[in-house]
Amino acid sequence: MILTESPRTVELRANQSRDANSMTARPERLTQPAHPVVTVTNPEGSGRVVICCEHASNGFPAPWGRLGLSAEAARAHIAWDPGALGLAQALAKQLDAPLVHANVSRLIYDLNRPPQSRGAMAAQSEVFEVPGNAGLDGEARRARTEAVYVPFHAELRALLARRAATGPLPVLITVHSFTPVWHGRPRMVEFGIIHDADPRLAQAVLAYAPAGLDARLNEPYSAVDEVTHTLALHATPMGFLSVMLELRNDLIASADAQEAMAARLAPSLTAAIAAAESEG
Ligand SMILES: [Zn+2]
Repeated sequence: MILTESPRTVELRANQSRDANSMTARPERLTQPAHPVVTVTNPEGSGRVVICCEHASNGFPAPWGRLGLSAEAARAHIAWDPGALGLAQALAKQLDAPLVHANVSRLIYDLNRPPQSRGAMAAQSEVFEVPGNAGLDGEARRARTEAVYVPFHAELRALLARRAATGPLPVLITVHSFTPVWHGRPRMVEFGIIHDADPRLAQAVLAYAPAGLDARLNEPYSAVDEVTHTLALHATPMGFLSVMLELRNDLIASADAQEAMAARLAPSLTAAIAAAESEG
């Protein structure tokens, strides 16, 4: 089970990799990223909630670089969820929650996808080709999985386990943003509330959603679109309440807007958790 491997193990194995192909192998097979792929802030926060932001970053660190994308494409929503990190940080402050977030682009590895998914290292995203992801072989996919996916999810899993061992059951909330226009079509939904197999918290968040926000259940995506991997991995099997929040990114485009949205959402989330819990 790959999740039992520590980042240290991964690093050691990468350094020991000296097979016959090593002279011609691309650098990503041999080296690890220059910067940590995951950051955890406020791990001892006093709240019940643990926040996760898988698509926080449009960082393209070595050894991968920009994967052949233009600077414009690397800044676009295909590379990350614009505004999501600022919102997640503001929510973490409001709820005194730990925050686990990524430091690499979803195009290097989409942390909300399992390693076997084509979307984990997508060769195409909306209308953009991703040249650096075209024709990745098994070893290249494994190297990226071990460098990005394994340490990220090991960190999140360990944090949740520590908190479950010493306090009340944690509540996992993942924070995302979506583009207002998709394949040329405007999206009216402003606040998407998405659940994995356990709908308790998502239904309560919808019931307590802030007034004036177009909130919808399982829009613009749902579990059938493969977007609940993090919830399925870390919350559903443990019985932790969980929900994925998707905000339309034009509503959280500035630091002020992110703070304001977090201030609107935090009381709703707190009320929803209490309601979901009392339903048992
Ligand atoms: Zn996302």
